[in-house]
Amino acid sequence: MFNVDYIRPQDLGEALDFVKERGPDTTILAGGTDVMIDMRAGTLQSKYLLDISRLSDLREIKIKDGELTIGAAVTISELCSSELVGRYAPALQKAADRFAGRQVRNIATIGGNVAHCSPCGDTIPPLLIHDAKVMVVAKPQGRRVVTIEEIAGGPYHCTLRPDEIITHFVLKPKPGDVEFSNFQKIGRRKELAIARMSMAAMARRESDKSISFIRFALGACTPTPHRFREIENMLLGKVPDENLLWQAGRLLAECMLEVTGRRPSAVYKEPAIQGLFVRLMLPLIQ
Ligand SMILES: Cc1cc2nc3c(=O)[nH]c(=O)nc-3n(C[C@H](O)[C@H](O)[C@H](O)COP(=O)(O)OP(=O)(O)OC[C@H]3O[C@@H](n4cnc5c(N)ncnc54)[C@H](O)[C@@H]3O)c2cc1C
Repeated sequence: MFNVDYIRPQDLGEALDFVKERGPDTTILAGGTDVMIDMRAGTLQSKYLLDISRLSDLREIKIKDGELTIGAAVTISELCSSELVGRYAPALQKAADRFAGRQVRNIATIGGNVAHCSPCGDTIPPLLIHDAKVMVVAKPQGRRVVTIEEIAGGPYHCTLRPDEIITHFVLKPKPGDVEFSNFQKIGRRKELAIARMSMAAMARRESDKSISFIRFALGACTPTPHRFREIENMLLGKVPDENLLWQAGRLLAECMLEVTGRRPSAVYKEPAIQGLFVRLMLPLIQ
């Protein structure tokens, strides 16, 4: 069906040698849930498919030097079942639980989700609230650290060079005294839906109920997902109630429209974003 050579390297060194020589003609293949669709649609043509899905270096989830490390070839199902992800990045686990259906989750990877640079990538808002660093490697240059924001130059535009491979992500774990962490998304339907809007947040309240720590990121509404510090700054130090959450939701809608301009979809998105924000944050005050 496709005129393409399939290569499965034995180790990361072999994979890096391959992309060093033939990077521009090569597509890295992890789960293939985006790549195969793009190839079928004819929007992606490559001489070589380099399958990195079984490289053991890219498949680990561990705590190292106090940070949560997740391999690029870790599947969405593995995020769902990981005790470490549940403990240190619960919003990411919740996003994984809501991701596609079981068949896709079993092969789709976190690395593929990030490198595809879809504005709707479900893992990206949770990675943003954990200040995730993307660890990238090439030969002979060696390692490079990129932020999640830097990976996407725009929708579906990955800024990585063709000789570079993402090996893993390094996340700041949820601090032990941060009890609230959540992810929400809206799709066209309840199951198997690509997000039309997604959000992730983490927050801590003090004994006087004021918010002393907050991280918030929005996905699918802007060309690339990002943290909205306006919302974080508005809520920081305040004692939240439902009224304040609606006010923050309204500010979020305004911030989104500043980035996107007022498109026809704003009629739907403006109220939806406020409602989803309140749904995301409500457990914090209950
Ligand atoms: C039915 C269906 C439902 C879906 N539902 C969702 C959903 O709910 N939420 C969601 O976010 N997405 C969804 N997707 C999209 C897709 O499953 C995800 O984006 C997935 O995470 C991609 O991972 P993959 O391993 O399949 O990537 P692949 O298709 O293998 O690769 C995607 C891109 O990343 C590059 N790449 C992969 N690994 C690396 C690496 N280590 N280093 C550098 N580049 C790399 C590839 O070259 C390619 O450009 C869905 C897709 C389908 C078909």
